[in-house]
Amino acid sequence: MNGYTRREKQITDINEITEILDKARVLHLGLADGDMPYVVPMNYGYTMENGELILWLHGATKGRKLDVMRANPKVFFSIECDLQPFEGDVACRYGMGYKSLMGSGVAEIIEDVELKKRALTHLMKTQTGKDFEFNDKLVSVVSIIKIDVSEYSAKNRPVPEKK
Ligand SMILES: Cc1cc2nc3c(=O)[nH]c(=O)nc-3n(C[C@H](O)[C@H](O)[C@H](O)COP(=O)(O)OP(=O)(O)OC[C@H]3O[C@@H](n4cnc5c(N)ncnc54)[C@H](O)[C@@H]3O)c2cc1C
Repeated sequence: MNGYTRREKQITDINEITEILDKARVLHLGLADGDMPYVVPMNYGYTMENGELILWLHGATKGRKLDVMRANPKVFFSIECDLQPFEGDVACRYGMGYKSLMGSGVAEIIEDVELKKRALTHLMKTQTGKDFEFNDKLVSVVSIIKIDVSEYSAKNRPVPEKK
């Protein structure tokens, strides 16, 4: 099992991978709450330097995901974009074109104020394409999660050509 069917293509080009990260805007963050999975949709920012992917998340300073992450910082994430439903002549030929990225990493709740500011700048850049600056007061009311991604894979499922 390589994770790809004949209709799907593995994406390895770093530019195509960052294009997914630029477009998707929302990730699904998987956590392990004891022996139960817990999945939370969240907006994100990212940085990719020398092939090292870091995801930057922000949110309230309390809540289940933070409690779960403190007990077990290992995470998994899934991201998708370019969703294109298509029709077929029979039910099993309906489907959806997509590009997707998923991977695992380790989450860290950031306390350093300057790093929190940089994280929010990354997050807003990814979400809006714009550069924002943040002051101490603004960063004090949010928690910042940094995810060092240890491995990831990306996939393209194109819409089939009409025959
Ligand atoms: C598109 C999208 C983008 C989002 N972006 C962010 C973001 O950038 N940052 C952020 O902090 N949050 C974001 N959220 C909200 C996020 O999904 C969580 O609701 C929130 O982070 C609280 O999570 P928590 O684990 O602290 O839950 P808690 O507030 O502790 O919630 C406890 C319980 O409430 C329920 N619950 C929590 N969240 C949801 C949910 N989304 N839907 C249904 N039930 C829920 C669950 O049963 C959970 O066990 C986003 C949601 C969506 C749909």
